[in-house]
Order: sequence, then C-alpha cells, then structure tokens
Amino acid sequence: MARTTRVAVVGGGLGGLTAALALIARGFDVTVYEQAHELGEIGAGVQLAPNAMKVLMALGLEKQVLSAAFEPDAHVVRNWKTGSITATTQMKGVYHQQFNAGYYTFHRADLHAVLVKALPTERVRLSSKCTGVRNVGDKAVLDFTDGTQVETDVVIGADGIHSVIRQSLFGDQPPRFTGVVCWRGLVPTSSLPPDLVSKDMTAWFGPHSTIVTYYVRGGEMVNWAAFFEQDWRQESWRIEGDKGEVLETYKDWHPAINQLVSKTERLYKWALFDREPLPQWTEGRITLLGDSAHPMLPYLAQGACMAVEDGYALALALERHPDNVTLALKEYEAERRPRTARVQLNSRARARINQLESPLSRWKRDIGYAIKKFINPAKHTYGVEWIYGHDVTENKGPERTSGLAGSR
Ligand SMILES: Cc1cc2nc3c(=O)[nH]c(=O)nc-3n(C[C@H](O)[C@H](O)[C@H](O)COP(=O)(O)OP(=O)(O)OC[C@H]3O[C@@H](n4cnc5c(N)ncnc54)[C@H](O)[C@@H]3O)c2cc1C
Repeated sequence: MARTTRVAVVGGGLGGLTAALALIARGFDVTVYEQAHELGEIGAGVQLAPNAMKVLMALGLEKQVLSAAFEPDAHVVRNWKTGSITATTQMKGVYHQQFNAGYYTFHRADLHAVLVKALPTERVRLSSKCTGVRNVGDKAVLDFTDGTQVETDVVIGADGIHSVIRQSLFGDQPPRFTGVVCWRGLVPTSSLPPDLVSKDMTAWFGPHSTIVTYYVRGGEMVNWAAFFEQDWRQESWRIEGDKGEVLETYKDWHPAINQLVSKTERLYKWALFDREPLPQWTEGRITLLGDSAHPMLPYLAQGACMAVEDGYALALALERHPDNVTLALKEYEAERRPRTARVQLNSRARARINQLESPLSRWKRDIGYAIKKFINPAKHTYGVEWIYGHDVTENKGPERTSGLAGSR
C-alpha cells in the first residue's frame, strides 16, 4: 500500500539501505541521501550471522545474497603460536536448524551491491552530504552542504560512527578510542598454498591480539583482519598499512599468519573506536540507526548485523504507527536500545577475553572452553545464542520487546 509518509534515510551503508528496502516494501516514500558520489563499500570482509541473514531473507534477497556469500564450515579458535585448535563450533549444517538461518561471510562490496541493486535508483540522492537536521513543528528539516534544505516527515540517521544526525540531536560527543588498531587484507585464494587457510571462520587468539581469517566471494578470496592493542588513532578505511610492521608484530605467531600477510599485496590499517551505549537515540521525528547509534568493537562481528536488524525493526515500527511517527520511533528505540547496548558491551568484554596477556589466564580460558564442550558437546561454546537466535522480523510490537531485553 502506497503511503504519503516521507522518510529520509541519511547514509547508504548496509544499515541505511536495509531500512530503505524494508520501508519501500511497506509503501513508504523513501529517499536515501548519501554523501559519496556513488554507492559502494570498501574492499574488506564482513560476516553476517543468522540474526542478520533472517532480515535479508525477509527482504526477499536470500538468493542474491547467497550467490555472493561463502559459508564457513565452523567457527574455530586457534592458538596464536602452535595453531592448535582450542575450540570448534560447527556452523554449516547446524545453524540452519538451530537458528533458522546460516552464517555467511562476504566481500563487503558484494553484499552492498545486492542491496543497491534491489533499491530503485530514483530513491537515491548521491553527493548529498547532510550537515544538520532539526524538528520543525510536525516536520523535520535537513540541511545539505550545497545549501539545499529538505523537508520530510521522518529522518533516519544511518550515517555511521561520526554521525551528523546524532551530533545535531545530542551535541558533539566524540567516540572513544578503544586502544585497538586493525590491519586488514584480502588475498586471492589462487595465490595461496592449498590448505593454508581452512574453510572455517577462524579466530587466532594471542597476547594483545586476535586475528580472524575467512573466505569471501564464494571462496575466491581470503579476508584477514588483525586486531592489535596499540596507541594509534587514525580512523579511516583508506589508510594503507606497512606490511613490514605487520610481519614484525606477528613474527612470533604461527607461520601461516606470516605467509598470509606476506601474500597480501595491499593492506590497510585503522584505529577502532566505539561509544558507551547512548541513553537516547530519538527526538521527535528523527532517530538513529546502526553505527550512528551504537558503534561497537568488531569482536562479535555484529556491528553490521545490528544495523541491518535496526533497519527492519524501524520499518516494522513505522508500519504499526504510520500516522503517529513519533510514537513509532519511540517504540523502535525502546525495542532496539537494550539489545544493541548489550551487544556493544559484550563486544568489549570479548576483546579482553580473546587477547589476554598472561599465559596462565589464556590457559584457564582455553581449559574453560574444553570443559564446557565436554559437559555439553551440542551447546554453542561462545554464549551467543541470544544474538543469533533472535528474529527481528517476527517482532510485531513492544509487547515482545520486554522479553527480549532480558533474554540470555
Ligand atoms: C575491522 C572491522 C570489522 C568488522 N566486521 C564486521 C563483521 O564481520 N560483521 C558485522 O556485522 N559488522 C562488522 N563490523 C562493523 C560494521 O562494519 C559496521 O557496524 C557497519 O558497517 C555499520 O553500518 P552503518 O550502515 O550503520 O554505517 P556505515 O557503514 O558507516 O555507513 C554510513 C554511510 O553514511 C554515509 N554518510 C556519512 N555521513 C554522511 C552525511 N553527513 N551525509 C550523507 N551521508 C553520510 C557514509 O558515506 C556511509 O555510506 C566491522 C567493523 C570493523 C571496524
């Protein structure tokens, strides 16, 4: 059903595009404003857990998304030095039954391209950098760098960690440097020795660092990301890293890591920032979504998943109250804030657990994994059922939300 409610989505990342698609499917008059001259994503990997896959399935994009995906066999934790396996959780063939969707890994550009293709081009305004927004009576008004102003009924700030929309609503609160930097690279599989990288989503846990490896683009490329505690604060997806520095940093690690880094033609370095959970996301007809609302460390690989969930939840809330958008946005915030805050804080905690410095603490952690697996081999070792098991597409109203916040 076509509706007259106009929704401006500021930011054409994974979160903004999901929101736009879910809203268009419900007949809303949506426009996406993106600062870039074209819609795209950087060359890096991204993992989507079952909770996000359920959203893409509900959008009718399962076939397209799977054609761009790789499905890892298992989530494997390895020892940084010996490479021995500390813990394994089978994903392929198990998650579909356990969580009603699988776990997949992607080249970001491929995943983003699927969403872009599904979005009618006339819904997108490129080269549109928003500079501010305000509630004016029963409308909201957006300002852009070229001096134009746009009046609309609802504004969704999906504009990432340095969100202008958040700043307009709640003032300038710079994100927190987490003390962790990340190097990342993509390597064609054909350039690697066979079996150097297993078909798993592998996390190498070591002192002060976690390295993650997985395949993307149906197995054509290997993505790696190395998280390392270092005081270096430049935050840009496009700063090239120094391969020599990475090899020196990981010289005592398992040789497979060094081989993978050596085979990487171009690698990037950036500093990781997050934020304390915000007490409020919404004011009147304006709200936030994804990294603008809850930037988080990537140790649970859930930032994009939460942005995708947000987008769908927001569309459902507006569908419930198309004639009372301020109530819809309040309900959306009430539903999403507890869950995303919990993921933010758990991601931080996971960073500490992964990269413990003391050998004794690491030993205790690893023994703990082994004992848990021994006691209950069928159970997920890492306590993320409350994340993966959630289906935001089934949430039809706030009455289901109260149970969500307390679920474990
Ligand atoms: C190393 C690393 C690995 C990660 N791995 C994973 C993973 O495996 N799985 C996962 O779920 N998450 C992962 N994440 C997190 C994930 O990348 C983010 O949470 C996700 O991309 C956020 O999406 P978003 O749409 O909210 O914001 P963004 O992707 O930041 O998109 C924001 C968009 O808004 C546009 N924009 C910004 N300002 C303006 C403006 N003023 N006007 C108009 N447009 C504007 C930008 O150009 C951009 O297109 C990882 C993060 C890092 C750092």
